[in-house]
Amino acid sequence: MSSKTYDVVIIGAGIVGSACAAECANEGLTVAIVEAGIIGGGATAAGMGHLTVMDDSEAQFALTRYSQQLWDQMSDALPREVEHDSCGTIWVAVDDEEMAEVRRKEKFYAERGVKTEVLDAQSLAEAEPNLRGGLVGGLRVPGDSVIYPPCAAQYFVDQATAKGTALFLGMAVDKIETGGIRLRDGSLISAGLVVNSAGSASPALTRGLEVKKRKGHLVITDRYPSFVRHQLVELGYLKSAHSMTSESVAFNVQPRKTGQLLIGSSRQFGVDNSHVENAIVTRMLERAVEYLPGLGKLSSLRAWTGFRAATPDKLPLIGPHMENERLYLATGHEGLGITTSLATAKLLVDQIMNRDSAIPVTPYLPTRMTRGAVHA
Ligand SMILES: Cc1cc2nc3c(=O)[nH]c(=O)nc-3n(C[C@H](O)[C@H](O)[C@H](O)COP(=O)(O)OP(=O)(O)OC[C@H]3O[C@@H](n4cnc5c(N)ncnc54)[C@H](O)[C@@H]3O)c2cc1C
Repeated sequence: MSSKTYDVVIIGAGIVGSACAAECANEGLTVAIVEAGIIGGGATAAGMGHLTVMDDSEAQFALTRYSQQLWDQMSDALPREVEHDSCGTIWVAVDDEEMAEVRRKEKFYAERGVKTEVLDAQSLAEAEPNLRGGLVGGLRVPGDSVIYPPCAAQYFVDQATAKGTALFLGMAVDKIETGGIRLRDGSLISAGLVVNSAGSASPALTRGLEVKKRKGHLVITDRYPSFVRHQLVELGYLKSAHSMTSESVAFNVQPRKTGQLLIGSSRQFGVDNSHVENAIVTRMLERAVEYLPGLGKLSSLRAWTGFRAATPDKLPLIGPHMENERLYLATGHEGLGITTSLATAKLLVDQIMNRDSAIPVTPYLPTRMTRGAVHA
């Protein structure tokens, strides 16, 4: 296949592998990317592209915040087709209990330098006239934004190949070996380091990884410009995202630059097939119509599914494998891999180059999986 020995071979050209490739190439490393399908065709194509700062834990906040800053720094350079849109998020509160959560989030973000605005019922209705009446308020996070993820992955691959990265497309990795990777056709690509960034397929290549598939559905509508102006998310979304067992749906609607609306979202464990399930789509749409009654009159064009790669502690695995220091992991990003791809790439390359990172790396190190902490 190739007689060359690369510094790094990266498995998977999703948004995470692509960002890692661009960052490695920037550092002057010789890089190869091996992708079984097409660039950004896995979870990256299935995702919503919401770049959002999250507060589930300090570690999740640090990674999402750092990554969002990196996205902001490159926003002027992103090609038009990446559709970067600084629409902001509104977390919508239906009752006083959720309004208390709005205030908790406001305080959390304010203490960490993230700008937010508490909306009362009237200012929420003014910001989003298509929301139903009777909602009590919300939290606007103006710094959140939206992109079209597959084009962002393509952009990162283009950045990497412009610096000499080799791209092996349509070639599936069969095995990770000492000294490189073995393709399904039997050929070997030699490399000093291997990065497993194969998303929900990563455990198939690295045995023992605690990464599970978590299926999600999305629906896209025809064009209805300004029907919503922000990414709208119910506060109950957090309960849905945190549940580690059952299937769940939550109201999550996003305005696209095309004028279309992306409607999410669902979460299911233990489902391996990628079929669109009518029962789930119906529940998801009913939930969305509860918040945006006028949505029921709009036409939807397509529904699809994708698999998030979920770890038990809801944080990604970024860094050397627990037992093999020549194998790096960049996987397990669940529902935040678009947001956190850029920070992941920085933390990965900092470890490869043996230097400190802008944020502490410890919470994301794969070695935590051997310490038993995640089973608590
Ligand atoms: C419904 C849904 C909504 C989401 N919404 C958001 C959101 O709004 N914001 C956000 O931040 N995140 C979101 N996510 C999560 C996000 O999409 C993922 O975390 C992210 O795309 C993961 O990227 P990845 O590169 O790790 O994986 P993938 O995009 O899946 O890429 C992995 C790549 O590896 C390749 N591969 C696999 N096995 C092999 C092999 N053996 N050999 C070679 N190549 C291989 C695959 O073909 C694939 O291209 C959402 C996910 C879903 C499902």
